[in-house]
Amino acid sequence: MSRVAVIGAGIVGACVGWELARRGAQVVFIDAGRPGEGVTNWSFSWVNAGNKTARRSYFDLNVVGMAAYRDLARTIGPDSWWHPSGHLRWADDQAELLENARLLADWGYRVELSTGADVRRRLEPALAIADDVPVLFCPDEAWVHGRRLVGRLVDEAVALGAERRFGTAVRDIVTGSDGSVRAVVLSDGSRLEVDCVVNAAGPDASQIAGLVGRELSMRHEPGVVTRLSCAGVPVRRAMHAPHVEIRPDGNSLVVLHSREVDARIEAGEDASQLARRLRVLARRVVPELGGATIAATRIAHRPIPADGYPSVGALPSVPGYYEAVSHSGITLGPVLGRLLAAEILNGNSADLLADFRPERFRGQERVG
Ligand SMILES: Cc1cc2nc3c(=O)[nH]c(=O)nc-3n(C[C@H](O)[C@H](O)[C@H](O)COP(=O)(O)OP(=O)(O)OC[C@H]3O[C@@H](n4cnc5c(N)ncnc54)[C@H](O)[C@@H]3O)c2cc1C
Repeated sequence: MSRVAVIGAGIVGACVGWELARRGAQVVFIDAGRPGEGVTNWSFSWVNAGNKTARRSYFDLNVVGMAAYRDLARTIGPDSWWHPSGHLRWADDQAELLENARLLADWGYRVELSTGADVRRRLEPALAIADDVPVLFCPDEAWVHGRRLVGRLVDEAVALGAERRFGTAVRDIVTGSDGSVRAVVLSDGSRLEVDCVVNAAGPDASQIAGLVGRELSMRHEPGVVTRLSCAGVPVRRAMHAPHVEIRPDGNSLVVLHSREVDARIEAGEDASQLARRLRVLARRVVPELGGATIAATRIAHRPIPADGYPSVGALPSVPGYYEAVSHSGITLGPVLGRLLAAEILNGNSADLLADFRPERFRGQERVG
């Protein structure tokens, strides 16, 4: 039986570890902090393919990712992590929005074109939106509570025999004379003998890759997310308004994000200034958020390999080393977990991942 160290218990590592454990592998989850408290807890957490049309193979992977969530909800039960309530988008550039809707419909994606008045009447009564504004509704999209889902998957895997080493960082990966992975060394000085490692360290993945002599370049794209606390949550689903993204986050919280506000991080604004900007933008869309208070804000780093696409699978030059690094990791976690577990245990190399293999960054392994 293979013993696999999953380095990083965010959404990606939790999905990989859970899939491995249910297929009989001996899994050790290792996380420098607490499970699900990395970028997974500071994500907009929108499960979608509608925003992934730049490359057809990436769109297709995300569509399968959405289906994998529905399977996962059937398998472990939906409870409070799964919110399949669809997604709303309206925009200043209506021509671009309508063009995107046409493309998605051509690719077989479910999109419904509506108006502001209809959306207020049927779906979101609290929105301040003009009656005649075109709004795109994607009924198969969803949002997830990432931290709760990670907790569920880790608990399920532990019930199947997985081990946990939380609050302990991986400091080294030991390879044998043939270059294959043999062990990991942790920050508490312990050494675990393993057959393979999965690098699911999210924004810190290049550091883990460096431990096996690989240079994994990542983009620098920080984002800021704020949680507002409110007595009653006035929105029912995730939405992209022209300048801000808003979604519920449980019974008394709302999550806010905006690419425009992200752009101010590099200008040196601190988290509390950024949070206030997000709240101003959100109140224009949902006036009932006027009484909401800022509960928590974090600037997090997106785990994006240099070309913008996931890096998933084995690295042939280092037997036993697997990568699972991706932006859109919320959408892709369950499908990447399923495909990577099959690859690790049975050697299956999925066609769906053909464009996203680690070895496409060739020449980036250091020799010696
Ligand atoms: C602002 C923002 C909005 C986003 N919106 C969306 C969205 O709407 N939809 C979507 O699909 N995606 C979205 N994303 C991306 C998504 O959040 C990430 O792709 C996903 O959460 C990555 O999960 P992960 O498990 O790879 O990383 P993480 O959740 O960060 O987990 C990695 C774990 O590795 C651990 N770790 C790091 N180094 C070590 C070490 N040396 N030893 C042991 N453990 C280590 C960390 O402690 C951490 O817990 C967004 C991201 C941001 C920043």
